[in-house]
Order: sequence, then C-alpha cells, then structure tokens
Amino acid sequence: MSEAPQATVLAGPTSVGKSTLSKHIRTHYPQVHFSVSATTRPPRAGEVDGEDYRFISPAEFDELIAADSFLEWATVHGRHRYGTLQSTVEQAVAAGKRVLLEIDLQGARQVRSRLPGAHFVFLAPPSFDDLVSRLAGRGTEDEEERQRRLETARIELAAESEFDVTIVNDDIDRAARELISRMGLDPEIDV
Ligand code: 5GP
Repeated sequence: MSEAPQATVLAGPTSVGKSTLSKHIRTHYPQVHFSVSATTRPPRAGEVDGEDYRFISPAEFDELIAADSFLEWATVHGRHRYGTLQSTVEQAVAAGKRVLLEIDLQGARQVRSRLPGAHFVFLAPPSFDDLVSRLAGRGTEDEEERQRRLETARIELAAESEFDVTIVNDDIDRAARELISRMGLDPEIDV
C-alpha cells in the first residue's frame, strides 16, 4: 500500500482476543484514535460512558438509525445493538488522526462498502484448537452456548479472505506492534 490508511477496521472471530488487543493498544499507543461506538448494551462494572462506549437506549439508537447517523451498525450475538457514528470517524480523519474501529464482521462488511479507503485487518487465532481452548478457558459460557459460539467462530473464520491482511494473535505485544505498523504508525513510540 502506498499511503497509510486513516481508518483501520479490526475484526475477527468470537473470543480471538480482539478486545484484549484493543485495550493493550489503548494503554500503550495513545497515538491511535479509537472510534467510540454507541451501544444499547448496559455498561459493565468499570466501563465509562463516552470512553468505552456511548451507552444509549434502544429508542435513541432507533433515532440515530432514522437520521442515518451510523457508518455501520449491527445486532451482535443476537442481543444488543452496536454502531459506529459517521461523525466520529469523519472528525478524526479530518483532524489527520489514525482511527481504529474494533467491530464485528457484519459491521466490517458495511464499512467496506461505505468507506472504500479503509484498511481491513482480520485477527486470527494461531489455530482452531487455540480458539476452542480460549473459549473453554473463559468459563463464562455453558456447554450449549460454547457449541453455539464455536459454530459461529467456524463461519467467522471463513471470512478471513475478505480482509486485506491477517494478524495472528499468538502474542499480544507482537500482534499489537504489527497492527500499529500496519496503521502506518511507529510501534517504537510506546509510553
Ligand atoms: P462487547 O459487548 O463485549 O464490548 O462487544 C461485543 C462485540 O461487539 C465485539 O465483537 C465487538 O467487536 C462488537 N462491537 C463493538 N462495537 C461495535 C460497533 O460499533 N459496531 C459493530 N458492528 N460491532 C461492534
């Protein structure tokens, strides 16, 4: 690629470690501008409105859809809605910032058609077995839910070829550095 992309979309299968990677990047690479999504999911303990997400009601979400304010939005895991506001990305890009969107696959597909200049990164597990053990290791889902998520993961893994590049999440530091370089930033500037 001749020019560094201003917007980078990070997606990948369930439990591959996307949110751990984005937290790591938030902590170590303040030069990255995170797109803060809107969601109808209630905040978890420790989450801050406006930082982790904009926590809004289903009615507010409906209004934003009606006003065509979303670059993309999706219902994730069949439950809550999540969306990227067009204005968030536009403002950051206009200010010359490198923006990272951590979103699900359905959202990534919408961004592809609406923001053709964006760069698409697929975060992959080192192997399918690794994904299975990560999901088991979390211990947060029962057997039936685990099977359902693994089925979803199989479908999601097949989407890899739609992406510009794959980063293997074998080591969090290494994967973060690779992502930062792919964004056209210098991974040596680590605070
Ligand atoms: P969580 O509720 O655990 O924070 O996120 C659940 C899922 O929603 C993750 O897969 C995350 O990538 C996805 N997600 C977060 N924000 C957005 C968004 O703005 N749009 C879409 N399509 N997915 C999102």
